Amino acid sequence: MNSTENFAEPLFLNPVLTHNIWGGTRLRDDYGYKVEGNDIGECWGISAHPNGEGTVRGGAFDGVKLSELWETHPELFGNKGADGERILPYDRFPLLTKIIDAKDDLSIQVHPDDEYAAEHENGSFGKTECWYVLDCDDNSSLVIGHNATTKEELKDMINNGRWSEFIRELPVKKGDFLQIDPGTVHAIKGGVLILETQQNSDITYRVYDYDRLQNGKPRQLHVSQSIDVINVPAKSADDSIRHMADTEINTPVCMYECKYYKVFKISVDGSMKLEQKYPFMGISILEGCGTVNGFDVKKGDHLILPNTVRESEICGKMEIIASTV
Ligand code: ZN
Repeated sequence: MNSTENFAEPLFLNPVLTHNIWGGTRLRDDYGYKVEGNDIGECWGISAHPNGEGTVRGGAFDGVKLSELWETHPELFGNKGADGERILPYDRFPLLTKIIDAKDDLSIQVHPDDEYAAEHENGSFGKTECWYVLDCDDNSSLVIGHNATTKEELKDMINNGRWSEFIRELPVKKGDFLQIDPGTVHAIKGGVLILETQQNSDITYRVYDYDRLQNGKPRQLHVSQSIDVINVPAKSADDSIRHMADTEINTPVCMYECKYYKVFKISVDGSMKLEQKYPFMGISILEGCGTVNGFDVKKGDHLILPNTVRESEICGKMEIIASTV
């Protein structure tokens, strides 16, 4: 396809499923993804990352990788100026959206910011991410932040394995939203299902892995890098979680906006119009079913509304998380 100026279809994506020691079966049982095994940790729903790259499902670009579409059709992503030049400040599709099913605890980790990553990780980007709690067991918690008050105390807690003092676990419930800035210690705990929106980057420093073994060996830790990048003191517990379960219906509600992304919750009940005010809009259907511009959509679907779709009509009864830059 050459000219896509009037391209009016949503771009449905084939997700990529991953196996992880802490994964479970909910991505198959609850979301219907076709995948074998009892250790399914992540669904990379909107991804152009080489570690798990999505392809377009159906339509004019059936089978095309998202990274390739980003290169060959920048106009679909609002990335083509009047003279054909690239206008967004990204050399690759900038976002990554995952659903994560933690049957067991994930390791305690932290991500660097762009500056640290550029210097220490071969010019890579840092990582900023955010979580929306899709579901969780009663009395669930997540690790967000830590209890050290000074860098010295932080070093002592980490170097001497004072984990119960160091780790700050906060109770969470369905519908909670958490922004994870670089330098924030974090971990998803068993029993929590989340939607993660993040920068398209994969640099993680593992602080502590509960002394677990994978194939007989402990997984690599990155203690000195972690101590370098962890913010001290951590953001307060009250500032770390926002409850977003009951938001206004049939309108995009911005849950968070930062330099890297804007993330919206959209509760559809009936029908609504969604104007394309952004370069593009990534859409993940998390509950229910309906239609987007006449195309059937259901729980577990991930799609992109390209820049060429100026207005969308969304109908049905659905919970959606949308993201853009
Ligand atoms: Zn993370």
